[in-house]
Amino acid sequence: MDKSVDVVIVGAGIAGLVAARDLVRTGHEVLVLEARDRVGGRLLNAELPGGAPIEVGGQWVGPTQHLAMALIRELGLETHPTHSAGRHIAELGSSRSEYTGRIPKVNPLALIDIAQAQLRLDRLGRQVSRTEPWRADRADVLDSQTFDTWLRRATHTPQARAFFRLVTEAVFSTGPEDMSALWASFYLGAGGGLDSMIGVKGGAQQDRVVGGTQAIALAMAEELGDRVVLDSPVTEVGWGDAGVRVRSGGTVVRARRAVIAVPPPLAARIRFTPGLPGDRDQLVQRMPMGRVIKINVVYDEPFWRAEGLSGQANSDHRPLGTVFDNTPPDGSPGVLVGFLEGRHADVGSRLDLADRRVQVIEDLVGYFGPRARTPIDYIEKDWAEEEYSRGCYGAFTAPGTLTRFGHALRPAIGPLHWAGTETATRWAGYIDGAAESGHRVAQEIGLALAPIASTGDSA
Ligand SMILES: Cc1cc2nc3c(=O)[nH]c(=O)nc-3n(C[C@H](O)[C@H](O)[C@H](O)COP(=O)(O)OP(=O)(O)OC[C@H]3O[C@@H](n4cnc5c(N)ncnc54)[C@H](O)[C@@H]3O)c2cc1C
Repeated sequence: MDKSVDVVIVGAGIAGLVAARDLVRTGHEVLVLEARDRVGGRLLNAELPGGAPIEVGGQWVGPTQHLAMALIRELGLETHPTHSAGRHIAELGSSRSEYTGRIPKVNPLALIDIAQAQLRLDRLGRQVSRTEPWRADRADVLDSQTFDTWLRRATHTPQARAFFRLVTEAVFSTGPEDMSALWASFYLGAGGGLDSMIGVKGGAQQDRVVGGTQAIALAMAEELGDRVVLDSPVTEVGWGDAGVRVRSGGTVVRARRAVIAVPPPLAARIRFTPGLPGDRDQLVQRMPMGRVIKINVVYDEPFWRAEGLSGQANSDHRPLGTVFDNTPPDGSPGVLVGFLEGRHADVGSRLDLADRRVQVIEDLVGYFGPRARTPIDYIEKDWAEEEYSRGCYGAFTAPGTLTRFGHALRPAIGPLHWAGTETATRWAGYIDGAAESGHRVAQEIGLALAPIASTGDSA
């Protein structure tokens, strides 16, 4: 089957759908080809016992994520605050503390150490350009070391090192030794600094979407109607001056422009003819995805709240290093959501489901006591096993990538435009960044396809 449109979009995640919606509004004929049998990509709802939706993919939005918030409002969706009242639990080293507010109880020396390193990190985040991090002052120095090397130099106490490892895994879903210090600085800057990224009130975890975040994608797909075609993995993209020729199974779509709205490692699996320029290919060879298994453990009620606990817990030695209360807004059933991140996800994914479940529940018992041992449901998703994600929360770069090939991340190549949260300049890796990238490519294409305005002169 052959089809012809103005713009073909590969991928019906937030980035692809936002781009499609903008382009339709500016009068373009659009077709979105989505590999899966559903829209939303890294956003996916599952069901709690009783039928309420619960996210197994991306879920939180925060007040400085203006594009995500605007999209949610525009689609007629609502948010509700993440439950965070009560004492949080922090296990750093051999000590366990329960605390309210932002800062866990650690010894004063470690506290000063953490505060000083955070100050330096936030300063770096502000200094490194969000659009061209490779041009930052000392970009070559930052990009020639891992974030771990940078952290080891910036901290002096074991607790501070443990704290930043935990935070890195929670934010980047990989270890600090895997990632360039320049990438870490860029990413933290793009999210408004460390507090903004790890915080609940005022931070990236402040709110949840009523109906689950996949509702954002579903609402856009409904608007787009039969312009979104599911079960259509794109395998080949031919491109040239005349436009593009995109193949999915027996379908060939011809268009003037294409938007590739898939994570970088998956873009690298599409065959482009002619082959892409070397810089672009070298870049996507070097942008692996982080790794996470996200687990919602369901209880008949949120029993921890009655004990004055918020449900928020962190540990530098448990595999389930980060936990939040994920109970629906009406308070039932009780849900704790936890994450196996980075190396903990490597190990966890090699266990079979029953053993992984035992390990996860034991960690919850460690945090919240014996009542955590009797859940009524256990809902997990291992994102590295997903053929069309191959990891999450997003991609990152190892040392030597941004300074050598970062310039090839965003610019269009002929009729090919690159979207996806990894290409964002604010909140890269988040729903907000995906929305930014969708708006950007729609603008690029709008400009490229706009008829050249007549000057009124006749030749
Ligand atoms: C467990 C988890 C927790 C997260 N937590 C949060 C959070 O709390 N807050 C937040 O803001 N973000 C969070 N994120 C990240 C957020 O989900 C992503 O940043 C965002 O959804 C990315 O959108 P995207 O459109 O750029 O990419 P994707 O959602 O990955 O969309 C890409 C689409 O392309 C499709 N595709 C891939 N290859 C092909 C192909 N060859 N042909 C056709 N289609 C193809 C895929 O199926 C997918 O639908 C989380 C993600 C995960 C997985």
